Amino acid sequence: MAQLPEPIQNAAAAFDALPGVGPRAALRYAYWLVTQPKEVIERFSRSIQTLADQVRHCDVCGQWADRSPCSICSDPKREASQICVVATSQDIKSVEETGVFKGIYHVLGGTIDPIEGRTPDTLRIKELMARVQMPVIKEVILALDADVQGDVTALYLKKQLSALPLKVTRLARGLPTGAALEYADAHTLADALQNRKET
Ligand SMILES: [Zn+2]
Repeated sequence: MAQLPEPIQNAAAAFDALPGVGPRAALRYAYWLVTQPKEVIERFSRSIQTLADQVRHCDVCGQWADRSPCSICSDPKREASQICVVATSQDIKSVEETGVFKGIYHVLGGTIDPIEGRTPDTLRIKELMARVQMPVIKEVILALDADVQGDVTALYLKKQLSALPLKVTRLARGLPTGAALEYADAHTLADALQNRKET
């Protein structure tokens, strides 16, 4: 087979690196883009470039944002006494979509999984412990996936937090075992939040 033009090979390699995209689909995307008007390709390229230029971590909650503090951390209408601990920035989006939670967030950057090298010190647990020292915080809601890593992380955090005068709750078991917050529908997640249990 003749060598593909290098720019197409490069674009296909970039798509191939995306999660869930195989080499065939990657090549299809590269060929699709090349058939588009130049402005479409440039807009696509700019949207990726701004990810590198304009997205950063919020220094307060740790979520990916276009400014720090992010729009949630800087919103005076958010209830500062409740802090919802999530694994990733995408989980914030899931919780926000329920419309039930009015507090603030803390992103851990993952869950504890020693096999994958994610030990507690690789997560933003130190930062969480610093934040919960603030007297305004009354409740810590652990909104972690209902899988083994989520359970291990919740147990670890509960132990760390137990010495503090805080209510520590976890999402109710409305979430099916193994469920990832990212894929939970807003209704199920709203139920799990409203029926959260003290751990
Ligand atoms: Zn923030």
